[in-house]
Amino acid sequence: MKICRFGENRFGVVTADGVVDVTEVFAALPASGYPFPRHDVMIAALPDLLPKLAKFVEGADVIPLDQIKLDLPVANPGKLVAAPVNYAKHLQEVRDQAELNHANEAHMRQIKDIGLFLKANSSLIGPGEAVEISRPDRRNDHEIELAVVIGKTGKNISAADALDYVAAYTIGLDMTVRGPEDRSFRKSLDTYSVLGPWLVTADEIPDPATLGFELTVNGETRQKAHTSDLVLSVPELIEYASSFYTLHPGDVIFTGTPEGVGQVHAGDTIHARIDGIGELTVQVTGAAQAKAG
Ligand code: MN
Repeated sequence: MKICRFGENRFGVVTADGVVDVTEVFAALPASGYPFPRHDVMIAALPDLLPKLAKFVEGADVIPLDQIKLDLPVANPGKLVAAPVNYAKHLQEVRDQAELNHANEAHMRQIKDIGLFLKANSSLIGPGEAVEISRPDRRNDHEIELAVVIGKTGKNISAADALDYVAAYTIGLDMTVRGPEDRSFRKSLDTYSVLGPWLVTADEIPDPATLGFELTVNGETRQKAHTSDLVLSVPELIEYASSFYTLHPGDVIFTGTPEGVGQVHAGDTIHARIDGIGELTVQVTGAAQAKAG
């Protein structure tokens, strides 16, 4: 099932014909007050809600997709975990290009030597928003990544059990300012984490290693790869992440980007597509001088 958020805090199920407004099914979400939970209550409730959603959409009216503004599909993830250099050819291009590695040895090591990193939740935007280039003095790059949304709480999860902990998949853009600093610093600018266009529940993607994907900028193909080439697979990433962090419902894992990373400027249009999930178009905005890049 494809689940979206849209308009003024509404929930939808995306069908072949359009979007069914299922907001009333989500009225069952628990009310929460301060201190708010550190997980996403919508994702935590999904196992109970999915059968109700399936029943609700039968014969329901649909809204054409072009008549709604899609919103961030996970409103309150507790954390954004991200995998660096998780495709061999991307590691090679980082090692080959001074603009990518900035002579920082920590940018050129293999994922198991670096570990994972965290992106600030405040960097998140949804498909209806634009990436804003606030540091046009730097090189700003696109990175398309399969994004995994965790469905239930777990620590020290084995790779063999890991897919049981996945609620859904979506498209992630791990936007990046290049430079010598730590990844968390350069990848957490406002608007530098994009998720969308919607969640595809895990039952629709039994094996996340089977997905081709592509990113274009202004219609030109920049990144085209396949999740079978991940260095650490989705189950291995969940095992690795959960050996350090307890994972909670709504936590997002950005699985890493393949080769072909490149610069974007204000005025550009990024288009991202992943098999079995869908397509996401994001505008890039910012100061006019970003064009000079
Ligand atoms: Mn990345």
